[in-house]
Amino acid sequence: MSDDLEAGDRVEIKWKGSTFSGTYISRDSRITVVKLQSGYNLSLDNSSISSIQLLSKHVPKGPLKEGPAGKGKPVFILGTGGTIASYVDYETGAVKPARTSQEMLYAQPDLAKIAAIDAEIVMNILSEDMQKGDWLRIAKKIYDKISQGEGVTITHGTDTLSFTSSAISFLIENPKAPVVFTASQRSPDRPSSDAFLNLKGAVKVAQSDVGQVCVVMHSSISDDELSIHSGVRLRKMHSSRRDAFKSINSEPIGTVDKNLEIHWRNYERINSRPMKIYENISERVGLVYFYPGMNEELLHKFADTNDGLIIAGTGLGHVTNRFVPLVKEYVSQDKIIGITTQCLFGSVNLDVYSTGRNLLEAGVIPLHDMLPEVAYTKLSFLLGNFDLDETKRLMTTNIRGEISDRRTE
Ligand code: ASP
Repeated sequence: MSDDLEAGDRVEIKWKGSTFSGTYISRDSRITVVKLQSGYNLSLDNSSISSIQLLSKHVPKGPLKEGPAGKGKPVFILGTGGTIASYVDYETGAVKPARTSQEMLYAQPDLAKIAAIDAEIVMNILSEDMQKGDWLRIAKKIYDKISQGEGVTITHGTDTLSFTSSAISFLIENPKAPVVFTASQRSPDRPSSDAFLNLKGAVKVAQSDVGQVCVVMHSSISDDELSIHSGVRLRKMHSSRRDAFKSINSEPIGTVDKNLEIHWRNYERINSRPMKIYENISERVGLVYFYPGMNEELLHKFADTNDGLIIAGTGLGHVTNRFVPLVKEYVSQDKIIGITTQCLFGSVNLDVYSTGRNLLEAGVIPLHDMLPEVAYTKLSFLLGNFDLDETKRLMTTNIRGEISDRRTE
């Protein structure tokens, strides 16, 4: 058995009386992976392999072209990581993270038919590892590109996509060119991957006149439509389905059909008001999910170590009455305590039950129909850039479409 096989070599493998030929991908102490002509990866346990014969050596491709590639209105792709960043090397069949813009383009050759694409990998992390400083870095990169009038598509992990899209919505005011996030639930090596259509749709939207930060993802489990969500209104509602993202308390602002035609509904166009980037964010904001049995000590920990706290409360926006005096005490220390609802759909309303009225009296700020994560990024943004009074005022003012007046009760 050959020990010096390299990814991309053509091989023939005898396994339990069957013979498979294909492209060698990898081998560890347990299994050997080979890509069959059908495109499927086959994993064979080493203990049942009787021989691996080298048919031909892999000839590496030449250097990939540097700089923009393709035809059409330019779009800049910023890679931040996540599943969508995996790159399938079509010569070897191997799946790896794209580390360069050339690799990313090589992985999605169709993009060159839609736009003149240039790309930069800003970071390559899973989105659960994002920090607030990463949002600032991403915002700065986006701002530099859109200042030149170029639309930007940001590829990102799905898990915390709504945190980043809302943070960027707040950090960049009146974007002068489209800012469009996308992601994928299934990696590009899987036949059911949503990565290709999502990215193509996002690139098309980045060529439009949309002037609000948005997110493009599958509308349904088939490849027939993409939804364009406002960056401050979406939530990942399923851990694995391709149509995991839904707009909450609002409709998607548009759709992209399978021919990549955009159908707008209610959306903000690029306007003539001055564009602005905010370069600060407060690290001293927390987000807590209230639950029955939560004790005062935990609330103290969150409130003591932060200047602002968002509580995802029950129903119309409640927490136990035991917390009321604590809230009052923290508000008197100039801390901001905002309340949203775990229900996600609908608005908080602290006027209905006595608990709500007690919380209001203690100084809690009811945050209407804002999603908890959006309230969290908004408060982090406001405390980083404005004084206390202005932060309080803006927290309950709709500044990027994150609050609606529509009441659903
Ligand atoms: N955990 C991954 C992330 O959010 C999942 C994905 O990429 O979609 O980065």
